[in-house]
Amino acid sequence: MEPDEPGTSGVATKIMPLAFPKGKEKYCELCQREAYIQCSECQVTFYCNADHQQADWVGIHERICQMLVPIRAMKDIYDPSVRKKNQLRKRHLIKICTLVAQSKLSEGKGEEALPAAHCCLQTSIDLYGPNTIQLVPAYILLAEANMGLGNLAVVAELLSQAEWAVLKNPELGASIQQQLHRSLGQFYTTTGNLETALFHFANDIYFACEEYGLDSSATTKGYFLIADVFARQGKTLIVHSLYSEVAERWHKHLSSLLETHQKHADSSVDSSVSFYEKSQRVEMEEMLRVMLEFEQKQSRRDVNHIALIAHNLAMLWFVSGDLHKTCIPTAQQHQQHCEEGLCGP
Ligand SMILES: [Zn+2]
Ligand SMILES: [Zn+2]
Repeated sequence: MEPDEPGTSGVATKIMPLAFPKGKEKYCELCQREAYIQCSECQVTFYCNADHQQADWVGIHERICQMLVPIRAMKDIYDPSVRKKNQLRKRHLIKICTLVAQSKLSEGKGEEALPAAHCCLQTSIDLYGPNTIQLVPAYILLAEANMGLGNLAVVAELLSQAEWAVLKNPELGASIQQQLHRSLGQFYTTTGNLETALFHFANDIYFACEEYGLDSSATTKGYFLIADVFARQGKTLIVHSLYSEVAERWHKHLSSLLETHQKHADSSVDSSVSFYEKSQRVEMEEMLRVMLEFEQKQSRRDVNHIALIAHNLAMLWFVSGDLHKTCIPTAQQHQQHCEEGLCGP
């Protein structure tokens, strides 16, 4: 469910102290300070002020408001069947918060991702207990949301908690290790500790290969991120060769998507949207733009390589249904690329 218009919020009312058992203070959902207002829709969520209520509403609460009612209202009931049902609800809640936070993060909306990431961590602690390995994905999400906002001290703290949990459970799956190394790599890139960043991105790629395979988009993104570190170190030759690798893999991937897309073109179902989640597309487009800009700035331009990246952009827009974009800036390069037979049959 989307808000009717930006800024539309749920309704908040003052907490009625008499409605709650004495000695049970209420704390703000977002900052854990003492709360003075509550969400009037669910009446189980509390805030220190209207700003935090509004931020939470836009970030996640609108989607989960009613879901929280049974979870929080039945918190103190020890009936095993009620507890079991509630555990399932909490798992579902964690899933929703994770998806919302990830999607906002990939669109670069760190601030809006915070409430969802926060709720994910709180619910995970509630379900699995503190200091458990299941908290690692939530730590990483919250760290990434804070990274976008420049709250580096908070990021360092969250990532070290995640690292500690992973250290205690070395048999943990490759996927979570990969995510953690990626976040650590991004953290050290931001703080300028480039050698440490390289170490973590190398691990990121290693675990991504192990979990998803060499040609997966997760592995390819690892190459893109490690190239960014080399770019900061001024090692343009390495950057160029990594970007070539990335562009070629995506070209293969997008070409096969395009083929499927054309096969479906006759059917009445609009299939273009389903190929890519919006957030995935935004992220890929952003990476292709960075690569294109880098290559265009080089004194000795590699025209074929630039055309390959431009062709990727055009294909991405085409399968996403952005036809007007496809035609304008890259049409020339796209055509040149195809005419030279670089796209294959
Ligand atoms: Zn607050
Ligand atoms: Zn509510």
